[in-house]
This record gives sequence, C-alpha cells and structure tokens, in this order.
Amino acid sequence: MYEKISIPEIFGMNVFNDAMMREHLPKQVYKELKNTIEKGEMLNSSIADIIANAMKDWAVERGATHYTHWFQPMTGITAEKHDSFLAPPNNGKAIMEFSGKELIKGESDASSFPSGGLRQTFEARGYTAWDCTSPAFLREDAAGITLYIPTAFCSYTGEALDKKTPLLRSVEAVSKQAMRILHLFGNTTAKKINVYSGAEQEYFLIDRSMYNQRKDLIFTGRTLFGAAPPKGQELDDHYFGSIKERVACFMRELNIELWKLGVTAKTQHNEVAPSQHELAPIYDDCNRAADHNQLVMEAMKRIAGHHNLTCLLHEKPFAGVNGSGKHNNWSLGTDDGQNLLNPGKTPHENAQFLVFLTAIIKGVDQYAELLRLAAANPGNDHRLGKQEAPPAIISIFLGDQLLDIFDQIEHGGATTSIQGGKMRVGVNTLPYLKRDATDRNRTSPFAFTGNKFEFRMPPSSGSISGPNFVLNTIVADVLEEFAEELEKAEDFNTAMHELIRKTYIDHKRIIFDGNGYSDNWVQEAERRGLSNITNMVDSVPYLTEEKSIELFERHKVLSRVELQSRSEIMYESYIKQINIEAKAMIDIASKQIRPAVVKYAGEVAASLAAMKAAGFDASVETELLQEINENIKAFHEALKQLAEVTHEAAQLKADSRLQAVFYRDRVFAAMEKLRVPADRLEFLVDEKAWPFPTYGELLYNV
Ligand code: ADP
Ligand code: MG
Repeated sequence: MYEKISIPEIFGMNVFNDAMMREHLPKQVYKELKNTIEKGEMLNSSIADIIANAMKDWAVERGATHYTHWFQPMTGITAEKHDSFLAPPNNGKAIMEFSGKELIKGESDASSFPSGGLRQTFEARGYTAWDCTSPAFLREDAAGITLYIPTAFCSYTGEALDKKTPLLRSVEAVSKQAMRILHLFGNTTAKKINVYSGAEQEYFLIDRSMYNQRKDLIFTGRTLFGAAPPKGQELDDHYFGSIKERVACFMRELNIELWKLGVTAKTQHNEVAPSQHELAPIYDDCNRAADHNQLVMEAMKRIAGHHNLTCLLHEKPFAGVNGSGKHNNWSLGTDDGQNLLNPGKTPHENAQFLVFLTAIIKGVDQYAELLRLAAANPGNDHRLGKQEAPPAIISIFLGDQLLDIFDQIEHGGATTSIQGGKMRVGVNTLPYLKRDATDRNRTSPFAFTGNKFEFRMPPSSGSISGPNFVLNTIVADVLEEFAEELEKAEDFNTAMHELIRKTYIDHKRIIFDGNGYSDNWVQEAERRGLSNITNMVDSVPYLTEEKSIELFERHKVLSRVELQSRSEIMYESYIKQINIEAKAMIDIASKQIRPAVVKYAGEVAASLAAMKAAGFDASVETELLQEINENIKAFHEALKQLAEVTHEAAQLKADSRLQAVFYRDRVFAAMEKLRVPADRLEFLVDEKAWPFPTYGELLYNV
C-alpha cells in the first residue's frame, strides 16, 4: 500500500533555496547574494566563506558527508567529483570544513572531457565555477547524501567547455537587447529579462531482465536488430491510455524525488508508442530548467532500477515505432512578471508583442540552420522527417489569429483579432468550453502555443541548453537591430509599424501552418528556399560559418575558437557513436545471431533428411532451409562488408569531417544492410532458438 505524502511538505526540502538562504545567512550576506542572483551583480568574494559555511552546516545537518561541483561537459551528461567535508583532524578529531574558495572554484582535468582540441593531455587544467543562479541541492541515494553545487566548466585559458556557459551568456545577451525595446515602449520598471523554458521529456520503460539480454541496448541505447512485432502502435491505444501500476509506481517515486529537489514535475502520461511515456515540469528560468532536466533524466534512469525497469532515453530505441523527443517550450518575460509573448485578447493592438514576435520570426528564418543544428545528435537522425517528428526543415506555426493579423498588417494595418468564442459539445449536461482562438499543429517544429513557442525538434537524450542558447542569441541579434533602428526613429509608431510590416514580408517564407509531415511540404519548402538538413553530419558545418561566428561573437556567447572546438566535438561524438553501434552489431551478429541460425539450420536439415529417409515428402523443410540459407548467406556477406568498412573508417582519423561523412555514408549504410536479412531470419527461426528477446517481448512486458 502506498504511503500518503504531502507535496507542500516535501517540495524543495533538499534544496538550499531562497528560504534556506534567508534562514542560514546573515542578513547582509543574504542581501548581497540575492543581488548577484537577481540582478547579475558581481559576487563579492569576501562573503563566499560565510555562504560556504552556512551551506555546509545545512548539508551536514541533513546527513551529507560530501560535496561536489556538478557540471555539464560536452558529453551531454553531467559530471561530478566528490570531496568529503573532512579537514585535517585536530588532536585526532574530525573537523568538517567547506571554504568560500572551495565553493567558488573547483579544479578538474579538462583533457579528460571532450574539448575538440582545446585541451591536450599535457595541458590539462580546467576549472569549475559556482553558478549561484541555480541553487545547490542534496542528492540522496542508497549510498548516502551529497551536496551538489551547480557549476560552469571552462579551460585554463577561459574557453567554455560546457553546456551551461553559453546559455548563461546568451541570457545576458537577449536580456540586454530586449530591455532596449522595452524602454522604447516606456517600460521603466523592468530591470532585466528572464528566459523561461519548460521541457517535456519522453522516455521508454522496459523490463530490466529483458534489457539485460540485449547487448545492443546495453552498448548503444537502441536496438540494432529486431523484426516488427505483430502489434505496433497502429491501434492508437497507448497514447493517454491508463497507466499500468508498475509504471505508476515508478512515476510516483520519480515525482517524490524530483519534488524534493525542487523540480516541478507536473504532467505525466503514456505516449504514442507502447512502453513510452512523458513527463513535463512547470516551466522555469531556462538555466534552472536545463539543470532540472538533467536531474530528471538521471533520476529516471536510477529510479527505473528500483522497479526492475530500465529507462531508455535514446531518440529511436525501436525501429518502426515512434521514438522519443523533447519539446522545449520557450518564452521571454520581464523580472516584474510580464510575459513578452502573451498576445492578450486583442493582439493587433499589442504592438510590443508584435515587435517581439516579428523579431523571433526573423531570427528563426535567418538562422534556421543553427536551430536545426541545436537539435542534432546521432539518434535524432532516425526521427526528424520520418513522419513521427517534425521534418528536418525549420518552419514556424503561428495559427489563424496571428496569421490574419500579419495579413492585415501586410495590406495596410491591423484593426481586428479573430476571437475564440464558446463551443457546445452537444450534450446539455456538459459545460460550454472556451475555444482557443487558434488550433494546434503537432507537425510543426516551432509552434506558437498561446504565450510561448514550442520547439519540438530537440532530441530526448540531449541537454536543452543548446536549443535555448541558440534561440536566445538569434533573437538577441534581431532585437539589437530593431533597437538600433527604432531608437533613432523620429516617429516611433510609424517606424515600428513599418518595421513589423517589412520584416514580416521579408521573412514570411518561414511561416507554415500546414501539415509538416507531408511530402508536399518538402517540395514547397524547397521552392521557398528553406533548408532541409536531414542528418547531423550535414548540420555541423553551419556552426563555423562566418555568419554564425560573427553572430555568436557579436553577442559574446561563443568565440571562434569555442565554436571550432564544438564543431570538432560534434563530429567526434557522431563518429564514436556510429563506431560503437557498428562494433556492437558485428559482435551480436557474429557471436549470437549467426551461431543460433547455423545451429537451427542444422536441426532443420536433420529433420529434412529424416523425413526423406522415412519416405515422406520434405517440401516444407526444403523450402524453409532454402530461405534460411539464402538469408544467412546475405547476412554473412553483409557482416563481412560491415567489418571491412568499419575497419576502413577507423583509418580516416586525420580529418574528422571526412571521417564522419564516411561513417554516415558507408558504415551506417552497411549496418542497415546487415539488419535486413537478420530481421528476416528472426521470422524464420524457432523463437526458442533466437538468442535474445524480440520486440514483442521488449515492448509488451511492463
Ligand atoms: P503539450 O500540449 O505540448 O504536451 P504540456 O502541458 O505537456 O503541453 O507542456 C507544456 C510545457 O510548456 C510545460 O512544461 C509548461 O510548463 C510549459 N510552459 C507553459 N507556459 C510557458 C511559458 N510561458 N514559457 C515557457 N514554457 C511554458
Ligand atoms: Mg509538446
């Protein structure tokens, strides 16, 4: 039986949050720290000792023995190194200590994390720096309690080596430029702009004992072999279906852990594919949201184990059924509580909203390739444009109401807004429903959804920092341009109206409200000159185009060297991932599938001989053996081919782009070729003889 819990009692109990700071810090210190957190003022290092000591007391009181600087290197996951609070003992007695220096700065071996050439092994120093805008927290598990301090990670020479640094820089950039626009509209109360993000996280849960029998899942996170099960997702019976008890128990434990960490876990439901689910928190400042999303992913993986489940965060764990993504809901707001993307009831009169909206349209059109890149990873190559996720073409969905307003602006001026109204369901006992002014469109990669944009391309396993820092930067760039123009305008209203009109006309090609999954759209997008970047390798060059370097340098988000290192890291990660997949495939094919099939074929051959000897017609055995034989031959050839190209690929080390292209065009292609006869053999061979659980067993066993 479950235990009763109270969300208000446990929420944030493991976080050194505002209330805890107020309680544990001297008044003056609290005030100074708060100024740094809220207004971005430099942290006075003299108060660091006091804060560190208070944090330590708070943590130790709750049972913590260690602390760690927690950071997000370019591996996409988080990293940590634990130190105990133990100081040199006094007369043999242990003393617990944590200094301001230890809080503010940590040292770590930068050469052991991806640096894209920025750090060689002989110049290894790297630093972690306390990010006081994301609160420290305690993480409990069976091994004990540790104080986690969110940090940024950089090299000895100051280059960012992580996901957090550019995100923090981009928030400053967009805040600065958006404030200029707000001043033009006469806003005197707002001090800065916050960027908000809410990340809907999709994932699969499968039975752990099944998982343990699949080397492909263990090594690569996705199945490399597997014939389609008799039932896939065609009945639409899983989406929003009732949640099975075992899964519900997992969700409950997950929620409790997240609530304690101050993560606002809110919505949970079954997703489209069998065994697929989703969790969405309430949106938050994008830096905290990014940290929290990392915590969500880690907690999912860990807690799944408590229920004899395994959580798969890969974008495409199973061929033929929908994979997982992450929707990044994004908006801008003032520190005094105004959502800049809220159109209000009559958006045509909301000029400020229209300026921000227009800036976003222009930014997305101008830098569509960067947004596409921000959603690129090897797993997402299996999803984008495959009728289950947005196409690999960036476009914006606005909805009828806003489209109509822009149409009016284009042809003179906007005087009306389409209204939503009420809706009757047709049964007297059911209430009237308020109808939104605009319907939804689930096929759009970048959709306006009421008071925010929903970027639907990001990969399920990735950090949301990338998509957010790109969005922030491209919007900052257009806002700067707008501010330059409007600040010197003689007549603000006329200039603004003209700016909106002209920008809309110049960039409306990026707006598309139709079905993004249709082939027509691919052709139409091509006519419009929109790029369709179907895979990760093709997206990487856009990161180091002059246009991109200038953009990121202009807003001090990433330097040329940092961008070059990131491009190198992306190629490296692609190469490594495909190489691991190829090697896993070779391993499974040689050591599991081939022996099983050969053995089974022997049994069929023996039975064939026995039938003949007994004077019976052996046509079934003959036909079966024939087909097995054909497929195992094709399989064997494809396996040799894959081994050959994988070996060849490894020799191309000198040029990472060339090598990545080779992995995509030759190695990945050889993998697909090997899979075809393998999946056919799975159908032909006795299921008891097949060496690992099938799709049917993996997807319908929880
Ligand atoms: P969907 O219909 O797309 O599944 P959900 O309700 O599951 O929507 O998720 C919507 C997400 O958007 C939630 O995380 C929510 O907190 C977030 N969100 C809502 N308003 C904003 C906003 N103004 N800015 C950013 N995110 C927001
Ligand atoms: Mg969504």
